[in-house]
Amino acid sequence: MQIAPLLRPPSSAIRGADALAAPVGWKPEQIVAVPARRHGSSLRGMWDALRGVEELGNGQPLSPVQVRTLGAFLADEWHAPAAQTLADLEQVRFYVGGPAARRPFLATQVDHAVYVGSPQGLDRILDWEGRRWLVHELGHVMQWRRADAETQLGKTRRSTAEYVVGSAIAVPTGAARWLHGKFRGSAQTLRDAIHDAHPMERETEEHAQSFLRQPVTDTLMLS
Ligand SMILES: [Zn+2]
Repeated sequence: MQIAPLLRPPSSAIRGADALAAPVGWKPEQIVAVPARRHGSSLRGMWDALRGVEELGNGQPLSPVQVRTLGAFLADEWHAPAAQTLADLEQVRFYVGGPAARRPFLATQVDHAVYVGSPQGLDRILDWEGRRWLVHELGHVMQWRRADAETQLGKTRRSTAEYVVGSAIAVPTGAARWLHGKFRGSAQTLRDAIHDAHPMERETEEHAQSFLRQPVTDTLMLS
């Protein structure tokens, strides 16, 4: 799961990846912006999730090409069972609002639900150009899956607790980095500096960056 925002620009700026064409069928043919059932603010939306309010499973799914390509990639990257990873990606549903409400290009993940702040953000995360963002959020699904609990709700509570513990490290570390960067003219926001210092964020972001370095032939063959 993720509370902190992902505000960086999408992947078009990543070196070496610019020329890669999207695999055929990458983006879902139809993208429907389904409103979240969980509450429309980050804290109350998370509280809904922790107390067991479920989404209805009617959100926007990944395309079959995304499920196959990213299922194979994520299982390999995270050393996770392939069948379980594929099953998880088939169940992933995107919603607009909920814990990501009112922040257009913010995403938050809870169990199989990924919340995006706006229909434009939803379009972007499912586009090839938004693949780094997508792989980052799906990495949070991988973190959720590995949480040491039997039930889905148990995993949500466990991974949320892990995130909060990580925040205790990330807040002072990120704030110190931000302050240091300020003296050197860095434009990074405090919020981004804290986000980037979080161990769970760093972990999933490393795998997202790794996806960008995949040879194009691999990606195309998997699709
Ligand atoms: Zn994140």
